[in-house]
Amino acid sequence: MGMAQITHGLRMNVNGVRRAWPEMLRSRIQRLSDRLRVRAYGDPALRAPGDVVKTFDEDLEILCWAMLSVMDKSDGVGLAAQQVGRKERVCVIDTSCRWSEQTFVEWDGMDLLHLSKESSFFPLFVINGKVINQSDELLEFSEGCLSSPGIYARTRRHQWVAVSYQDPQGGSHQIRADGLLGQCLQHEIDHNNGIFFTDPERLVPADYEKIHLKLEELSRRRANA
Ligand SMILES: [Zn+2]
Repeated sequence: MGMAQITHGLRMNVNGVRRAWPEMLRSRIQRLSDRLRVRAYGDPALRAPGDVVKTFDEDLEILCWAMLSVMDKSDGVGLAAQQVGRKERVCVIDTSCRWSEQTFVEWDGMDLLHLSKESSFFPLFVINGKVINQSDELLEFSEGCLSSPGIYARTRRHQWVAVSYQDPQGGSHQIRADGLLGQCLQHEIDHNNGIFFTDPERLVPADYEKIHLKLEELSRRRANA
């Protein structure tokens, strides 16, 4: 995609995604988003690795927008399909709130940080997202999750990651980012793989004591609900 299309995209869709709900699908998006519930830690849906998406149709687009609506209601910056009990390898991301902290965001080989209307890059719909390259350097991030409200802990994440993914129309892309977006991509793709941010391979061990009782409590409450 060339620069002319990107300029056009600033008004329309920078990353292959429309900036607002497609009006024709509005009522179906609304109906689905009303049905989707965020699953809490301990729910088996969070542990099942997602299925590769092979069909890029209207239903997929509706799922993306409905997930975005759920995420926005919960004030999240990312949500994976497994968190709403779905099997697809899909996640939705909007980290425009902390864009200024990014050092770089490269999308299909283009530097996006120079964009003044940075938020027009979002929402980012990541279908079949896969980390294809990553920094050797690991950083500690403070992290939380809509599936474990009020529980925050430090994780070790790659300083940057490069991710290949598809948009809801099936177009292939690559994104490389650090900062909150890089962290979010790692967190959400982990969800697609059934990994939770408090799992031993992600959690800073010193924070285990701080959170494990809260997680157990959340898990118990979920089981009794
Ligand atoms: Zn999460």
